[in-house]
Amino acid sequence: MATERDAEFLMFGATGDLAKRKLYPSLYNLYQKGTLGTHFVLLGTSRAKLNDDEFRDVVKQSLVHAGEKADTKEAAEFLSRFYYVQHDVTDKAHYSVLRDRLNELDKKYKANGNRIFYLSMAPQFFGPVAGYIKTEGLQSTNGGFNRLVIEKPFGRDFESAKKLNDELSKSFDENQIFRIDHYLGKEMIQNIMALRFGNTVLESLWNNRYIDNIQVTLAEKLGVEERAGYYDNSGALRDMVQNHIMQIVSLLAMEQPVAFLDSDIRTEKVKALRSLRVYDVAEAATNFIRGQYGSYGDEPDYRHEDDVPRDSNTETFVAGKLLFDNYRWSGTPFYIRTGKKLAGKFTRIDVVFKKPLVDIFAFPQSGEKPLSANVLTIFVEPNAGFSLQLNAKNNEPGFQTEPVNLTYMIDQAHSDQTPEPYERLLHDVLKGDGTNFSSWSEVAYSWKFVDQIRRVWDLSEPDFPNYTPYSMGPASAHELLERDHREWVYHLNH
Ligand code: NAD
Repeated sequence: MATERDAEFLMFGATGDLAKRKLYPSLYNLYQKGTLGTHFVLLGTSRAKLNDDEFRDVVKQSLVHAGEKADTKEAAEFLSRFYYVQHDVTDKAHYSVLRDRLNELDKKYKANGNRIFYLSMAPQFFGPVAGYIKTEGLQSTNGGFNRLVIEKPFGRDFESAKKLNDELSKSFDENQIFRIDHYLGKEMIQNIMALRFGNTVLESLWNNRYIDNIQVTLAEKLGVEERAGYYDNSGALRDMVQNHIMQIVSLLAMEQPVAFLDSDIRTEKVKALRSLRVYDVAEAATNFIRGQYGSYGDEPDYRHEDDVPRDSNTETFVAGKLLFDNYRWSGTPFYIRTGKKLAGKFTRIDVVFKKPLVDIFAFPQSGEKPLSANVLTIFVEPNAGFSLQLNAKNNEPGFQTEPVNLTYMIDQAHSDQTPEPYERLLHDVLKGDGTNFSSWSEVAYSWKFVDQIRRVWDLSEPDFPNYTPYSMGPASAHELLERDHREWVYHLNH
């Protein structure tokens, strides 16, 4: 049985898309599992004019959408803990209404002053709302915890991120701030640490002596859809690389933490990011490439999507080479790529080991194939698992090696029971465990790296569009590796 956590949530943006699609179903799962119970209550707020019952109906519909049976006694009990106050977050004076309601509900549900402020709304409000939470007295003062959960994006460059962080820091300490990166809630991303630090056969080889290169691919099949307005202001580099990819890379690159504790893990991730080489102009221009998708049949190219300016230079694809200047990784590149309208929706990590220095089995004159590299592939989504490619002798006459795979995939029954990222992350917030959230230092180093690429890109006009939808991106993404006499492990004719 799960440990029950006492908590009162104040949900800003309570009628928004994220709250309805992800947060309420995740809270319900936690309620069903007993992590939330008699001392749980949620006060929702947004600009919409609703009473408590109407708000409960919004939450109920979100459970139905998520495939839950919402007419049960348990669902009714869960929904009865939802309350609502209409509130414009820019209206400073009105925060006193939220404060009084929070205090009443805290007493009624004996939440013990444990407050979680969830900012599920547009990023321009993050700073001001955090400020008002403090100045207008919404934080509890009776020894309970006050935690701030903040959605992405965290700034759009280092300067704006720092400004936002400075604002948040006036109201919350770093260990009270939980910056969501939902990739960190995914099963196989969390499994990176188990694989690395739980297995001598992997960790002892996890360095530049034995690993030739590491590849991280986050591919999306959809185009910008209805998010064009937001996306055009952001682009793949800011939307995917600065946060999700840099977080994954830091987990792959970091040293072993002293203990499996958020503070120790953060220390190692930050150390890794500090040794990531921030490129000068020439390096940025050679080691990063960008793309924008063209048209496909009736489907418009990116510049003809609704809400996208016809001359937009926003990248919908990025690929790059990252280099760490440290003892473990010097000389072993990390290649990353992400984009929209690619060949499929999937996330995978390919760790390519070096081939044996001498291939005693290769007899090119008789047509025998050389040894393949060992590859550890971590499948993050849609299916979760991993596979290790080894060489073995096949059972035909003569002596021929061929690659075989040792594969572990989480089966459907177990994957149905695997918690959604938001459920895990909310659970972590309730426990006060910051392991799977981005710390300010991590965010800062990632922005400093990414800003330099952006700066260089802004100096020149790209030749867009430059890739065919449902491919794996522009030719330059392949050339990036070819130049180094390598290739992407996952390519289209796979
Ligand atoms: P949304 O536009 O659907 O919802 C915004 C909410 O904020 C609504 O409830 C609205 O009433 C409220 N709101 C807007 N202005 C307000 C004001 N002045 N005062 C009070 N309330 C106000 O947005 P969303 O898609 O739910 O996104 C919320 C946050 O989550 C954003 O930071 C977004 O970047 C992030 N995010 C969303 C998703 C997603 O899948 N939707 C994914 C990742 C991150």
